[in-house]
Amino acid sequence: MRLELEEASNWIKLFAKKVEANKSELNELDTAIGDGDHGTNMDRGAKAIVESLSKNDPTNVSDLYKDTAFAMIQKVGGASGPLYGTAFLDMSKAVKNGNIELSDLIQIGTDGIKRRGEADVNMKTMIDVWQPISDVLKSGKLIKKDVKEALDSTEDMVATKGRASYLEEKSKGHIDPGSQSSAYLFDTLVDVLGENN
Ligand code: ADP
Ligand code: MG
Repeated sequence: MRLELEEASNWIKLFAKKVEANKSELNELDTAIGDGDHGTNMDRGAKAIVESLSKNDPTNVSDLYKDTAFAMIQKVGGASGPLYGTAFLDMSKAVKNGNIELSDLIQIGTDGIKRRGEADVNMKTMIDVWQPISDVLKSGKLIKKDVKEALDSTEDMVATKGRASYLEEKSKGHIDPGSQSSAYLFDTLVDVLGENN
């Protein structure tokens, strides 16, 4: 399955809305194991995405992902801005000469985050949502339960990357904030695909 421009554009816009609506939730999660700004950071990025898409009105998926990447790199800040930015920039490059399978697209985004963050699965970061979702997409349809399971798996992990890693064992028992914003990204992907994708 390939995500065409209209679906992809709806996806990004829905994600931006979801982030704006859940700004406090993201800040609360980041207050528990970070510095409390993940919602504020992502909300800034979400507003920049909406503004950029309405101004540029991208005519292909590569430009759509590029505009999304630039908005996040320029406006989100923190650790998460460059990470989301790299994911979408790598996705933009991957579809430059023709659209690709959705599962490949999301794996390329995941690999970008791993490279940029020098991180991998089980470190209690957004990768713990991106990688399992890539795997689910490779084997079939994606449903919200898959997203929830990936998100919940971060609760019992000890953080070994990012700000939460300063807490060592005390980082356990909390959902990772970047995984929550990534869960919004994939929940909204299911919204555009439909549960019978
Ligand atoms: P900061 O930690 O700089 O305040 P944010 O609060 O916006 O930035 O984002 C924190 C989130 O970024 C974490 O919850 C985690 O998911 C993600 N993150 C942090 N460092 C890394 C990393 N090295 N690799 C992947 N994800 C990371
Ligand atoms: Mg933070």
